[in-house]
Amino acid sequence: MSKISRIELFHVAIPLAAPFYPSWIPGLPQMENRFDLIKITTEDGITGYSAGPAMYHERRGLGDLIGPYLIGEDATDIPLIQQRLREISYLGWRQFWIEPAFWDILGKSKNLPVYELLGGKAGRINLYASTGELKTPDGIINDAEAHYKAGFRTIKIRVHDMNETDDIDRLTTIAKAIGGKMKIGVDANQGWRVTIIGDAPLWDLPRAKRFADVCADHNIAWLEEPLPMDDYESLSELRSYSRVPIAGGELHSSGQVEFDTMLEKGCYDIYQPDAIFTGGISQTFEIAKKCLKKGVSYTPHTWTNGIGFAVNLQLMAASGFSSTMELEYPVSPPGWTVPSRDAILETPFTHDKGTLQLPTLPGLGFNINRKILKKYGKRFFNMDKKRLIWFSIRTRGVKISKEIDHIKRKKKN
Ligand SMILES: [Mg+2]
Repeated sequence: MSKISRIELFHVAIPLAAPFYPSWIPGLPQMENRFDLIKITTEDGITGYSAGPAMYHERRGLGDLIGPYLIGEDATDIPLIQQRLREISYLGWRQFWIEPAFWDILGKSKNLPVYELLGGKAGRINLYASTGELKTPDGIINDAEAHYKAGFRTIKIRVHDMNETDDIDRLTTIAKAIGGKMKIGVDANQGWRVTIIGDAPLWDLPRAKRFADVCADHNIAWLEEPLPMDDYESLSELRSYSRVPIAGGELHSSGQVEFDTMLEKGCYDIYQPDAIFTGGISQTFEIAKKCLKKGVSYTPHTWTNGIGFAVNLQLMAASGFSSTMELEYPVSPPGWTVPSRDAILETPFTHDKGTLQLPTLPGLGFNINRKILKKYGKRFFNMDKKRLIWFSIRTRGVKISKEIDHIKRKKKN
């Protein structure tokens, strides 16, 4: 038993070296790597961390919800944590990004990396260079050359033009230039369309089929998110039609149950659940196991921040796919670089010729860079047992607080 004694939430905004223009939010110059960091401390002094991407301060009130749900619970009882997060989600707040922090604690309490807790072994993971901007074809070709020189043999590029012909021309030019020496994956970013600034294309099944044909003609390794993430019927039809593997499933926040449906309908050849969004480590690990059983592939989406990468790296290492699949390594200079992606970590995940040695530290395999947290982070919530009592008295009064406490104690005994 390792009781949760304190919960802290920080908003972190690490400046990028240059503005980054993600293909998935047309028109947005992203200036910072922004996320909320959760720090859980147990009565025996173990700390666990996780991080969820943030647009701004939208999680400001979250602590008032999670504090009373979690303080005093056993941090190492993952099924219980899953239950609490499920209870939180009934009101519309899906916060499974918090769950890996408890795996961090569990690993540290047993002095083992999480992938070993899940049955994986230390070793190397192969990576693919995942780019995120819609540069000119020449710009992408130059980047590809640099990634090739650095040791990568696979690159992921993006298409996201309103005009179908432009997407096709772009892919053709890039494939002709680098297809001979690098494997190319193409992400259409159609899974979760965002039009908050610029407009974004909306593919339908015929357009996705035509593009899949072009991909096949150019030996493209996979086509990612070619259709809206919940259009299961069209995805399944596209997968049957396509000569190239279809990949997707990165932001499904309903967890396992959605993947059960997609696996049953045969939506993808490659499933990419990201544990930060998809029910935490527990549920994502179950999905990976189901992929293995079903004879389809798994390799997670990792594009959030260094902690999100670390979480999904642990899963990849334990999944049974680490020797056959490559893991997404987000690197898209000049804006999205490893130092800014991983700044919150004491030791960034620097690759070695397109591969990564798995961390051997217990838990999620990283330590927090306290200087960076101090410089770019701001704590916006801090609750321990005492503060919880005051919170309860303030919101419910002494009598009701005592009554609730009495029932809770009775349940535990
Ligand atoms: Mg993607």
